[in-house]
Amino acid sequence: MPVKLLEGKIIADQIIIAVGSGVKALKAKYGRAPKLVAVQLGENASSAAYIKAQAKAAASAGIVYELKTLPGTCTQMKTQALIDELKNDDKVDAIILQLPVPKGIDANILVNTISADKDAEGMHPQNLGKVLLGNNKIGPCTATAVMEILASTGLDLYGKEAVVVGHSRIVGKPLSLMLLNKFATTTVCHIATAERGVLKDHVSRAEVLVVAVGKAGVVKGDWVKEGAIVVDVGINRVGDKLVGDVEFEGAATRASFITPVPGGVGPLTTAILMRNTLELFKTRMQG
Ligand code: NAP
Repeated sequence: MPVKLLEGKIIADQIIIAVGSGVKALKAKYGRAPKLVAVQLGENASSAAYIKAQAKAAASAGIVYELKTLPGTCTQMKTQALIDELKNDDKVDAIILQLPVPKGIDANILVNTISADKDAEGMHPQNLGKVLLGNNKIGPCTATAVMEILASTGLDLYGKEAVVVGHSRIVGKPLSLMLLNKFATTTVCHIATAERGVLKDHVSRAEVLVVAVGKAGVVKGDWVKEGAIVVDVGINRVGDKLVGDVEFEGAATRASFITPVPGGVGPLTTAILMRNTLELFKTRMQG
């Protein structure tokens, strides 16, 4: 069977249309559209692309989007002061801190202080705790995007062997909980798995494989199990090309479904950010 490409953009477009309808209805009811504010410290190429995509998606969905850029030399205290100001601004419904932040800034502390009710990325401990308990209403955007992509294949995750490579707070950990909550038999691999030399063993058993590491080709194409669903979250610049973490050509000859990079998870992540913003707005307005 030829491999099917899982193009996140198609699902993302549907989500943006649905968010747009929701925004329209709530604007008619409450007299204003939701507002999402992005906080950026300094500038870098990877967040520039994400910010551009956010602005475009927000415009399509009718969400008010504002970017606040602080200098790269800004202190933790000054960044914190801006986040506090946004938290207390009644007209701001959702906040995202653009990652990565410059050296010397503790992003975790900042993310923890964005109040849970304005946490557009679903990264606040309270929202992560809800994911643990099976409530994904404001789920971390990329992990939620991966779950949407998996759902689009029609696969029932119940009892399936799922392997997540990478255990970051933003992707791997919440995703592994979401898969577990769907009763997938879930294995989480990380640097110690690779250092022990058993990454291939785990990957090659996966019926569902999600890789979020940030190293081009960390998963070899011939490790992929025949018929597996492969979701490649990684984005790596190699020369003038963007590639994922999985060797695409080899993996595509074995997988049943595979995400391209770019055009797989990325567009969906942005769409989920808009859906979270709408959800936060709705919850705040309903008091
Ligand atoms: P991260 O915080 O750096 O986490 C990477 C994870 O990979 C860590 O858990 C790390 O383990 C693990 N790891 C490192 N080397 C490994 C190896 N050789 N074998 C197995 N695991 C290894 O990165 P992230 O924020 O999760 O992002 C991962 C990738 O996804 C990046 O390329 C990023 O650009 C991309 N991304 C894409 C989207 C999107 O929307 N498409 C969104 C977010 C991120 P240790 O921490 O133990 O070292």
